[in-house]
Amino acid sequence: MFLSGKRALITGSTSGIGLAVARALRAEGAEVVLSGFGEVEAIADLCVELDAVHVPADLSRRAGVEALMAGAGQIDILVNNAGVQHVAPVEEFPVDKWDQIIALNLTAAFDACRLAIPHMKAAGWGRIINTASAHALTASPYKSAYVAAKHGLSGLTKTLALELATFNVTANCICPGYVWTPLVENQIPDTMAARDMTRDQVINEVMLTRQPTRKFVQPSDIGEMAVFLCRDAAANITGTNISMDGGWTAE
Ligand code: NAD
Repeated sequence: MFLSGKRALITGSTSGIGLAVARALRAEGAEVVLSGFGEVEAIADLCVELDAVHVPADLSRRAGVEALMAGAGQIDILVNNAGVQHVAPVEEFPVDKWDQIIALNLTAAFDACRLAIPHMKAAGWGRIINTASAHALTASPYKSAYVAAKHGLSGLTKTLALELATFNVTANCICPGYVWTPLVENQIPDTMAARDMTRDQVINEVMLTRQPTRKFVQPSDIGEMAVFLCRDAAANITGTNISMDGGWTAE
């Protein structure tokens, strides 16, 4: 329980990767602050499971991030994870979707960091872990806003690492490929129907074509990486993009 006494805020932790990271940090003793949307009862159950608090906020608005940070208390481990996606050719990309993706996937991380860092510096310890993506390192067509935001998040992370290098505060990106989350699983039936494919075809010929292992990353794997980044052994890992993508970005 090496994280006893540390307080972790994980954005987008009512589901998927963020929830797995929250569970992994809690398992090592961290106090957990949850953030994200969802059914009131389901969130209440998570708060009981993780002995956590949930601070409701829409992080696509600066006022929402500020409300979250005011309600979360002094944060030692900040995991910027909340994110959304939209897929469309650039000339048809809805401008409101562009604004939302940049706001949530990039600007919210900047705002959360600027508000969390003073305590981390004063405490002489901190960890900033950003859920980026293989799309922080490479592009795919029709994902202009997402790719731009994730590349931006990687740039922000490197800058933070340099600014915080002498304060025992590290900043890193975890860059997953395709992760097996409910969001991904729920896309399978529609894609099967749309493309007249079997479940296996959708998984192997649509979803995992760029992931050489042909295996999904598991959310709990990302939780374990987040835990490792909090260890003393990871004190010199800063400003990095840690790929967990089955070899995607090696090609
Ligand atoms: P998810 O949809 O399961 O979770 C997203 C979380 O963000 C939820 O808790 C949701 O409530 C929250 N959220 C959404 N909009 C919000 C808003 N406006 N304000 C506050 N919270 C909001 O998704 P996931 O697959 O777990 O993705 C988490 C992160 O991982 C994202 O940044 C995503 O880009 C990244 N990622 C996912 C994959 C994947 O294959 N699933 C791959 C690479 C990177």
